[in-house]
Amino acid sequence: MKETVSVLGAGTMGRGIAQVAATAQHPVVLYDPYPAALEKALLEIGADLKKSAEKGRLAEPPEAVLARIQPSQTLEEAAQAAWVIEAVPEKLELKQELLARLGRLNPKAILATNTSTLSVSAIAAAVEAPERVLGLHFFNPAQRMRLVEVVGGLRTEAALITQALALMQSWGKEPVQVSDTPGFLVNRVARPFYGEALRLHGEGIAKEHIDWIMRGLGFPMGPFELMDLIGLDVNYAASTSVYQAFYGEPRYRPHPLQQQRVVAGLLGRKTGQGWYTYPPGPPPRPAPPATPHTNPPLPLILGPNPLAQALRARFPHAETPERARFVLDCRVVLERKEDTPPGLPVVSLVWGHSASRLAAPLRGQPVAGFSLVPPIGPSSIVELYPPLSGPNPALELARAYFEAHGHTTLVLPDQPGGVGFRILALLINEAVSALAEGVASPADLDRAMRLGTGYPLGPLEWAEQLWLKPVLRALEGLQAELGEDRYRPHPLLRRMVAAGLEAFRNLSPKGEDGQISTKEAR
Ligand code: NAD
Repeated sequence: MKETVSVLGAGTMGRGIAQVAATAQHPVVLYDPYPAALEKALLEIGADLKKSAEKGRLAEPPEAVLARIQPSQTLEEAAQAAWVIEAVPEKLELKQELLARLGRLNPKAILATNTSTLSVSAIAAAVEAPERVLGLHFFNPAQRMRLVEVVGGLRTEAALITQALALMQSWGKEPVQVSDTPGFLVNRVARPFYGEALRLHGEGIAKEHIDWIMRGLGFPMGPFELMDLIGLDVNYAASTSVYQAFYGEPRYRPHPLQQQRVVAGLLGRKTGQGWYTYPPGPPPRPAPPATPHTNPPLPLILGPNPLAQALRARFPHAETPERARFVLDCRVVLERKEDTPPGLPVVSLVWGHSASRLAAPLRGQPVAGFSLVPPIGPSSIVELYPPLSGPNPALELARAYFEAHGHTTLVLPDQPGGVGFRILALLINEAVSALAEGVASPADLDRAMRLGTGYPLGPLEWAEQLWLKPVLRALEGLQAELGEDRYRPHPLLRRMVAAGLEAFRNLSPKGEDGQISTKEAR
């Protein structure tokens, strides 16, 4: 017979965790002081198991799994388990008190917390044997999401982490080992997905456009529709907690637009209104251009980077300036862009600079900005930016060219970075900072982001596909033009580019001395 697992708290997470443990053949004690919570949990677990059985996902009848879950209102009963996983409300004192009592009742039990924002080490500090405490951070819904962050506190015994990783694997989960830092891994690295989207919205870009562009990049949902699903209050609390835990680091600063909606009670789907109103919810995505232009204008594509390569491989283009109608400049560094063939309209990549800034040195040539983030697929949306001086022939040429090849274009208010790239660049920078701090290994980091958030690619592998140097130069440009510290490239990214390294997998998270060490370059 398998070891008994106790789950404390029969709410959203507790009942999911209990269901997973029971499905994995463990006898489960589900503890909650409120009988109504227990009753509701058993009903919901039963209904969910029934659905799984109907889909052929359950190896035994739902009743057999349910029979292994014993509801309980006494902590003494819950203490008789090898593993105790608490999923009670997110209050430090409550979690400390419960686990301390459990530790006294059964000093042999392994005590796990499902906290998403509190420090595992702080919870463990109240327990007599803090080395027996670790974090098991499940994602909602726990019975479906495969990712579990296994969090070692500062005093957690190393063997416990190994045991927990094995246990989670035996439950069919994909555990990643992460360190006890604010937001752990996924909740921290994902912050710019919301934070930068809010910034862009605050700078005048419509939320619908931001959502469409991010979906076009392969994200399962746009940031605004996702905030509506999560709950604006829950998302705002996560942002605030990471911001405070890092002592006001500007990268994590929550946005007043979100706070405004929270205090107004516009919390998302659960209240019928958040960023959108439900029903109907977010507007449908724009259809691709119906009548492609025939005989589209040919550009001369400039730049060595993967975007330039992808455009050359995908679309017809001119090999010489003489045969081109316009220049499509994919280079990132401003100084390089000044060296552009004269006499042709210029459509220039905005990853590091706004169209207005790019137009300044090219007086006499019409200039428009564009952004398109690889990997380019049929649903990729092309962002077009007229400079502040207004639309011009360059913008129309770019629109005709990309629409001729089946891409939706959106003309947006001028700002540096573009929507998709700016959000992605900050996700990459955040992932690099988590890597530099040893929060997880490069492979685990990418895997966790794909599993925990549904990102089409992990941020580190995405950076490798874009090349690290253009990402670094773009961040430098953003920091210079926007004048804000939140865009400063992480020193590890600078060091990697300086060292000529192109792949994060050549870094091991922490050497003997606790520092990032560099293995040989690719
Ligand atoms: P919830 O409010 O749905 O459930 C909490 C449960 O705890 C309720 O059933 C309540 O009756 C019970 N409870 C209250 N006081 C208790 C006590 N003294 N002893 C035992 N049980 C008590 O909350 P939730 O969303 O399931 O969150 C639980 C924990 O999981 C929190 O730490 C939260 O941060 C974390 N978490 C939540 C999510 C999520 O998406 N909801 C995801 C990951 C982690």
